[in-house]
Amino acid sequence: MSEPYHDYFGDFGGRYVAEVLRTPLDLLEAEFAAVLEDDGFRADFDRIAAQFIGRPTPLLFAENTTRALGGAQVYVKLEGLAHTGAHKINNAVGQVLLAKRMGKRRIIAETGAGQHGVATAAVCAKLGMPCRVYMGEVDIRRQKPNVFWMQMYGAEVVSVTSGSRTLKDAVNEALRDWAASFADTHYVIGSALGPSPYPDMVREFQSVVGRETERQIADAGIDVAALVACVGGGSNAIGFFAPWLERESPRLVGVEAGGTSDEVGAHAARMGGLGVPGIVQGYKSLFLLDDDGQVQPTHSISAGLDYPGIGPQLAALGQSGRVEFRRARDQEALAAVKHFASREGVVFALESAHGGAAALDIARELPSDKAVVVNMSGRGDKDLFIMAGELDRASWKEFLLSEGGRL
Ligand SMILES: *Cc1c(COP(=O)(O)O)cnc(C)c1O
Repeated sequence: MSEPYHDYFGDFGGRYVAEVLRTPLDLLEAEFAAVLEDDGFRADFDRIAAQFIGRPTPLLFAENTTRALGGAQVYVKLEGLAHTGAHKINNAVGQVLLAKRMGKRRIIAETGAGQHGVATAAVCAKLGMPCRVYMGEVDIRRQKPNVFWMQMYGAEVVSVTSGSRTLKDAVNEALRDWAASFADTHYVIGSALGPSPYPDMVREFQSVVGRETERQIADAGIDVAALVACVGGGSNAIGFFAPWLERESPRLVGVEAGGTSDEVGAHAARMGGLGVPGIVQGYKSLFLLDDDGQVQPTHSISAGLDYPGIGPQLAALGQSGRVEFRRARDQEALAAVKHFASREGVVFALESAHGGAAALDIARELPSDKAVVVNMSGRGDKDLFIMAGELDRASWKEFLLSEGGRL
């Protein structure tokens, strides 16, 4: 782990926090800088990655897809095979190990859809740390299965009833807790955003995905023209792209949630002119804001992409042109889930399927001696209810009603 430490990425990033949070962030920055140089820390991370996360995750040649498209070869990094079903656990392992090294005795986290909460709760169970997860009351109702799993792992899930009772309110509540508790508590942020050093830290811990992919590309002997990943806050994308950020090729393509249209409230695309510069929750980046600077509502079929802000490093990389941004609409993502399930026997998470949809489009435009690699950031099991509601509504309603009767 040797990437340089950044406070700002071009115009974006920084540490815009209340005075009380400066001390914990300074301490975290110093400890993070120390572990970058520490082989012992790296060895601990690698051991847990192998035994618990299930690393390395495979790089799959999507042979049937490639044959059907007649363009570039399509490869899929199966990050969804990581324990708890997505890339989020890489960051959770890194941060909880860091917290232990700092002598912290308690972990807090925020969660929206629940995936980051589940990953953090599982890691805390494994590493013997008490864990409290802040979650909006609305999200708790919508994401019942993830609440159940967090509690099964022994975490305390705290319902946040302020504001819109969703992710941003959960972040505020976690920050409030941390301001009072940092002497013995670490706050595990779930994406490559927030005040520095979080964007750097999360990229470093997620860069295991990119480093593995680089080796697997070399082993497969393929000529990669483009790497594609979905972008919510940006952690799977920045980790996947990390080894190539300072190089000119291949193309790096981030795919945002196009939702149902470009209307306010119908998407979560911050790049391509829809987002504006702002400072929200401790960092400067591009956000979906109204004329008064208030955060606008967002929509995506995927719970993990509907965040109003993008990680500061990706915002800067979009501005410099190193990362291209595209959008996939809800229905395109759903079509990509069906495509990869029926052709390759792999069910993408709805988030990852935004990348999958774009990868198919890009591969069609390229010659057959090139390859496109898409990061399947998560698997789709968690999206059963959403997908069933879209694809098979009537019979699922009947099933759920009959199950309800048995409870
Ligand atoms: C949370 C999540 C995302 C979005 O988060 P990033 O930080 O942008 O990676 C994407 N895919 C899956 C499967 C997720 O759980």
